[in-house]
Amino acid sequence: MSDRLDSQYGLFDSPIPISFNKMYINGAYAVSNSSDSFSLLNPKDNTLVADQIPIADHVDVDIAVAAAEAAFKGPWANFSASERSACFYRLVDLLENELSDILHLDSLTTGNPVSLIPTRERNYIRNCLLYYAGWTDKQRGDYFPDDDGFVKLVRHEPLGVCVAINPYNSPVASFFIKAAPCLATGNVLIVKPSEKSPLGSLAVGPLFEKAGFPPGVVQVLTGDGSTGARLASHMRVRKVRFTRHFSKSMKGYTNQTQKVSFTGSVATGKKIQVAAAQSNLKRVTLELGGKSPAIIFDDANIENAVTWSVNGILARTGQVCVAASRVYVQRAISSRFIELYCTAMRDAAKDIGDPQDAKSKFGPLADSASYEKVQAMITRAKNEAELVVGGHRIGDKGLFLEPTVFLNPKSEAEIYKQEVFGPVSVIKTFDTEEEVVELANDSEYGLMAGVFTRDINRAMRLSTAIESGVVGINCVSMVSQIPKDCGSC
Ligand code: NAD
Repeated sequence: MSDRLDSQYGLFDSPIPISFNKMYINGAYAVSNSSDSFSLLNPKDNTLVADQIPIADHVDVDIAVAAAEAAFKGPWANFSASERSACFYRLVDLLENELSDILHLDSLTTGNPVSLIPTRERNYIRNCLLYYAGWTDKQRGDYFPDDDGFVKLVRHEPLGVCVAINPYNSPVASFFIKAAPCLATGNVLIVKPSEKSPLGSLAVGPLFEKAGFPPGVVQVLTGDGSTGARLASHMRVRKVRFTRHFSKSMKGYTNQTQKVSFTGSVATGKKIQVAAAQSNLKRVTLELGGKSPAIIFDDANIENAVTWSVNGILARTGQVCVAASRVYVQRAISSRFIELYCTAMRDAAKDIGDPQDAKSKFGPLADSASYEKVQAMITRAKNEAELVVGGHRIGDKGLFLEPTVFLNPKSEAEIYKQEVFGPVSVIKTFDTEEEVVELANDSEYGLMAGVFTRDINRAMRLSTAIESGVVGINCVSMVSQIPKDCGSC
């Protein structure tokens, strides 16, 4: 593959020169030391998008870490808070022109519909950068009086070299969500995008220098889990970050201990935690999978509950950590709700299509491994729950799957307990508030939940009782300020 995306796609006509067969190190695209590489297919039709994308080896990782350390101790160390903010604002301005092309590029390998770009993606990234631009001068620290003869000052200092190991499903947003708090607080960052979706991240790299960040402050190393493992166990990496939530990020990047940030599956998160512990005890922030419940009480606005819970499982074809994959409905309205929900899921199949066509609302799964994993879970689930909608492939080319609904799963059914990461939900009926709280909390996950009711007292009670990072009231799977018509992430 040449340095530019093959013109057959006709989508990426940006002035940004992208080298897919190189990594982005110290302010320039660089050839890898490694001879290992991978290629990427478009999940809509299995055509080749890019090949010879390097798998960074230990030499590449050492070079990137050394450049990051030099940047951290170099001019970047002397940037004032307002100079750091100015870089953020320039980056926002640059993205105004460039982001759409970058996200189109990523759509080619993620299958994320380009229809998401003008609303959700763009606003999410822009709001994130603007938010953190305002944090550069807010690291106040603390003061303790001299009651023992010593004044004590607590200062928040940057850690140094941080690493972001990203999942495949929303690569560019993940990039900025991790870069923003890291840079606002004076750190430097090496991003390791997923081997399924590195193109947008490679394209983003040079924008940081254009915005005024010195070379080496943000770098992009391509590779698979082996590259991630090298970074997670590197003795001079201070943090690995695998996360997305703003408040947690800010905490993570501003303390004195060493740390790593990772977003992805539970299984990989455990490996990263071990690698960090066995190397330099760097701190690790983990943002992992979900099995988010949507709980619909009999006084809820049923149409609103259907809209949110259907969008909550179908956005990005269910490849969203906060996907509303468990639906609990109170018995008195269960027949009506299930009828409307299943109809909406069936109807949604007509909105599935070419992700590079702005008319498509939903695209394919990202690659054959993801598709086969989801299909295998559906097959096994048929013995443990009642399949009422979907379950089949759409068409004979591309990784398109029907929106799929199971009813009344067995209490230990895999489809009910485990994250599917596809357009597959399960519905269960409940009688009482106590019962549904117990059901919702009987999970290894606790990322997101939604409660649908008109009773404000019950809503407030449930928001405490549900063991979940976020509880939406009359909404679900919503992670940030988004336009009204967008529904969920
Ligand atoms: P994954 O765990 O397979 O991979 C994530 C990243 O880890 C990739 O960059 C991969 O190369 C890297 N990796 C793999 N093995 C590694 C190792 N041994 N050491 C270091 N790095 C390694 O996840 P995925 O399939 O890309 O993403 C889907 C998962 O991510 C789902 O579980 C989803 O719920 C989760 N996710 C969570 C959030 C959140 O904020 N909670 C957001 C998005 C995705």
